Formats: sequence, C-alpha cells, structure tokens
Amino acid sequence: MKSRKLSVLLVEDSRADARLILEVFKEESVNADVTVVRDGEEAMDFLLKRRSFKGAPTPNLILLDLNLPKKDGREVLSEIKQNTHLNGIPIIILTTSQSEDDVANCYKLQASCFVTKPIDLEKFVDVIRSLDEFWFSAVKFPPEPRVC
Ligand SMILES: [Mg+2]
Repeated sequence: MKSRKLSVLLVEDSRADARLILEVFKEESVNADVTVVRDGEEAMDFLLKRRSFKGAPTPNLILLDLNLPKKDGREVLSEIKQNTHLNGIPIIILTTSQSEDDVANCYKLQASCFVTKPIDLEKFVDVIRSLDEFWFSAVKFPPEPRVC
C-alpha cells in the first residue's frame, strides 16, 4: 500500500549535507515533498507561515540540525514544542553534535529521536537510508496537522 505523501521540513545550514540528504531521499523514492531552510529563523517563519512562507504547508515531519545561524536548533525545538499547533510534529534531530547534554536536553524537549551525523560519507548515507526506511515506511504519523 502506498503511503500518503508527506511534507517534510529540513532545517540544515550545510548545503552539502542538505544536498546529500535530498539525494538519498530521491534514490530511496521517498514519498515526500521536502522544503529546505537554512537557519532557525527561516524554520520558524516557515512553521508559522510568516514572511515569504505564507501558505506553506504544516510539515508532517521535521529534520532539525542543532547548530544553525540566527536561531539555534535547540531554541527552534523548544519553540515548536511550546506551540500547541506545532508540538505534535515528530522531530528528528540530525546534528554533528555528540554532546551528551544535547542528547539529554533534546529528549527532554520531546524530540522524537537524536541522530549524530557520521563524519564518514558512506556512513552518513547509511544513516539517512535507515531513517528513510524507518520514518517513511514503518512509522505512523498523526492525522494532518491543523492549520494555524
Ligand atoms: Mg549546522
């Protein structure tokens, strides 16, 4: 059975990482529309449908980097989870951080999972593939989020 098309927000300031993630999604034929934003402020603008993002969809899933320009990913996570319109969206933390404090704090803030990006390219691709396999085939998502 083909799953419904999901809307995914990828918050990633590294162009190389974003490109790689999109390539793997394409290879794996992930049934999703992916929007890439490059800093935390843009992420909140997209989620709150502000500025150039009026009419943007509410994403079904967010992939969130932690170290971001303008507004840090930790702040973005905390703001999303405090917003009753957005706090049901699963959030995958995908970061170079290996800090145990980050891991603990992200789970306290209700991140769905915390993944450290491997430095090694092949391993990075493997991690994205396994995220794809799990999140886009095994996982059940909440009903369409309400428009805020
Ligand atoms: Mg970054």
